[in-house]
Amino acid sequence: MSEDRLDITSEFRCKADADLLTRLAMGSAVYPILLVLIGFTTSFRTDHPPLFWRSALAFGVSIGLRFGLTGLRNRLAAALRVWLMAPLTLSIFLTASTSGLLYLTAIRCYGFANWTFTVLMLWVVGIASGSTISFTPSFRLLALNIFLLLGPANIYGFVMNTREGNTFALATFVLVAFLLLQGYRLHGMYWDLISARARERIRLMELKAAKAAAEAANEEMKIRATHDALTGVLNRSALLNCLERELQRAARTSEPVSVLMVDIDHFKRVNDRYGHLTGDEIIRKVVDRLKQSIRSYDVVGRFGGEEFIIVLPGCGIEQIDDKAESLRSIVASGPVLAGDVELFVTISIGPVTTKSAIAAERELLSIADQALYDAKRSGRNRVVSSTFADA
Ligand code: GH3
Ligand code: MG
Ligand code: MG
Repeated sequence: MSEDRLDITSEFRCKADADLLTRLAMGSAVYPILLVLIGFTTSFRTDHPPLFWRSALAFGVSIGLRFGLTGLRNRLAAALRVWLMAPLTLSIFLTASTSGLLYLTAIRCYGFANWTFTVLMLWVVGIASGSTISFTPSFRLLALNIFLLLGPANIYGFVMNTREGNTFALATFVLVAFLLLQGYRLHGMYWDLISARARERIRLMELKAAKAAAEAANEEMKIRATHDALTGVLNRSALLNCLERELQRAARTSEPVSVLMVDIDHFKRVNDRYGHLTGDEIIRKVVDRLKQSIRSYDVVGRFGGEEFIIVLPGCGIEQIDDKAESLRSIVASGPVLAGDVELFVTISIGPVTTKSAIAAERELLSIADQALYDAKRSGRNRVVSSTFADA
C-alpha cells in the first residue's frame, strides 16, 4: 500500500507541475502584448530598434519554450517530466531579465522627462512582476526574478543621485518589498492549496483503489465458490443450480434441454502411467476441447473426478446424438499434449433430452448416467443414446 501511495503522490506532483506549466504558458502571453503596447504607442520602437526586436526575440523564445514544454509534458515519462523544470526556470529568467533591461532603458531615456511613459512602464513592470509571482515555482527563484526585473532600474535611480532618481529608486524599492511580501504570502497559499488538494486526491484515490480491490476480491470469491479450481468450469453445485434453472425454463417455454454426461476413458491408467500432475493437465486439455466445441450459451461443469456434464439449452432429441458424437470425435481427433507427454484420449458420453416439467433433475441425471454406463460397457469412446420417454 505504501508503494501505491508513493506512486499516487508522485503522480500528483506531476499534475501540480503540469498545472504550473499551463499557467506559465498562458501567463507568458502578457509579455508580447506589453511589448507591442510599448513599441507601438510610444517612440520606443524607433528610438531603440535593436533592443525592441531583441526583446521580441527573447520573449518569443521563452514563450516558445513554455508552450513547447507544455505540449511535450504529456508525452514524457513521469521521471523525465521533472527535468522540464530546468528549461522552464530558464525561460522565466529570460523574460524577467529582458523586461528588466527594457525598464532600465526606458527609465534612462525617458524616465523623468516623460512621466506618461514612466507611469506606463511602472504599469508594465507591475503586470510583469505579477505574472512572475504567480508563475515562479519557488520563492527564492521569485526573489531573483523580481531582482532581475526591477533591480537594474532601481540601482540606476540610486546611482543617478538626483532628487527624481532617489524618489524613483525609493518607490521601486517599496514596490520590490511589496512584491516579495506578496509573493511569499501567495506562494505559501498556493503550495498549501496544492498540498491540501493533493491530500484530498490521494485519499480519494486510495479509497477508489481500496473499493476496486474489495470488489475484485468479492468477484474472486464468487468465482471460487462457483468454479472448479482445476479446469475453470462450473463446480458441481453451480452446475446443478444451472441445470435446475434450465429445466424450469424448459418447462415454461416448452423448449427442450439436453444433458451430456461425459467421462474420460481409462483415466486411472493415465494417472498410473504418467502421474497425477500429468493427469490433471490432460483433464484440463480435454475440457478445453469440449469448451471450444460448444455454443456460448451451453454450460460445462465438473460433476466429479474426470466426469463432466454439458447442459445444452434448446437442443432437442433430433440434434443431441449428433452433438454428442461431434464432441466425442473432437476429443479423439488428435493427441493431447501435457508437458512432454503426448497421448490419445477418448471419452464416452451418455446423452439425455427433456422438454417438460416432469423431468426431475435427479431422474434425468440417472438416465444420462445409465447411458454413459452402457457406452462404457459396450467398448468406450462412444455415445449411447438413452431411451427417455419424455423427450
Ligand atoms: P473408465 O473408462 O471406466 O471411466 O475408467 P477410468 O479409469 O476412467 O475409471 P473412473 O472414471 O472410475 O476413474 C476415474 C479416475 O480418475 C480415478 C481418479 O484417480 C482419477 N481422477 C479423478 N479426479 C482426478 C483429478 O482431479 N486429477 C487426476 N489426475 N485424476 C483424477
Ligand atoms: Mg473414466
Ligand atoms: Mg469417472
